Amino acid sequence: MQEDITDSDAFIFVRGLYHSYAEGDGYKEVLHGIDLDLNEGEIVIIMGPSGSGKSTLLKLIGAQLTLQKGIIRVGGERLDGASPKRLMKIRRNMGFIFQSHHLLNSIKVVQNVQLPLAFDKSATARSSKERALEALKTVGICDQAEKYPSHLSGGQRQRVAIARALIRAPKIVLADEPTASLDQRSGREIVEIIRRMAKDLGVTVVLVTHDNRILDIADRIVSLVDGKLEKF
Ligand code: ADP
Ligand code: MG
Repeated sequence: MQEDITDSDAFIFVRGLYHSYAEGDGYKEVLHGIDLDLNEGEIVIIMGPSGSGKSTLLKLIGAQLTLQKGIIRVGGERLDGASPKRLMKIRRNMGFIFQSHHLLNSIKVVQNVQLPLAFDKSATARSSKERALEALKTVGICDQAEKYPSHLSGGQRQRVAIARALIRAPKIVLADEPTASLDQRSGREIVEIIRRMAKDLGVTVVLVTHDNRILDIADRIVSLVDGKLEKF
């Protein structure tokens, strides 16, 4: 593709993205040329059946998987050709929310939320705790701060995970099936929190799901079928 990518003002810009995994003696290609433009502050849902490549696409955008072929630019930064150090920096400026919350059960809720600030030289113990409490307030569970994650419900734990994703004030949040392990009501609450945070904080959200009960929170929906995108 000869397009001059500097002409695009998309906040997240993906062109000609392919990805394969090693399988047996060969390779299995799971993404077959993805093009995607996302605007700043937009909530985009990528839906598609299990195995269609949603997590792979999200991990590539999140610089969590090595880019094999194609162009990804995230907020002005090219991921293709970036050094490992640069990629780590880019990664730290994004928030991640997963299907399972990935909280550490051996430390308190507030400490879990503080974790991403461990890399932040300007954050003192006191200021990072204050920021964590503020983030917990945003998701409505400030009163659970001193508990351990195992004492919380699934929905509450997912709120903690959102607070942790927000603590560094990222411009981009990537969410992989954030409602998949929740009942309908908790799932609804979680996506509404994600939507409110996106709109209040101007965060760009890419959310992948196969839960079609939550599609209404999206500004835009794209569908991934067999490693190719179909626009609605
Ligand atoms: P989705 O999130 O839509 O369910 P994934 O991106 O997880 O899809 O996976 C797409 C395809 O790639 C699936 O067939 C899956 O089995 C395969 N796959 C995913 N991760 C790996 C891996 N690390 N090694 C080999 N195959 C993988
Ligand atoms: Mg997945």
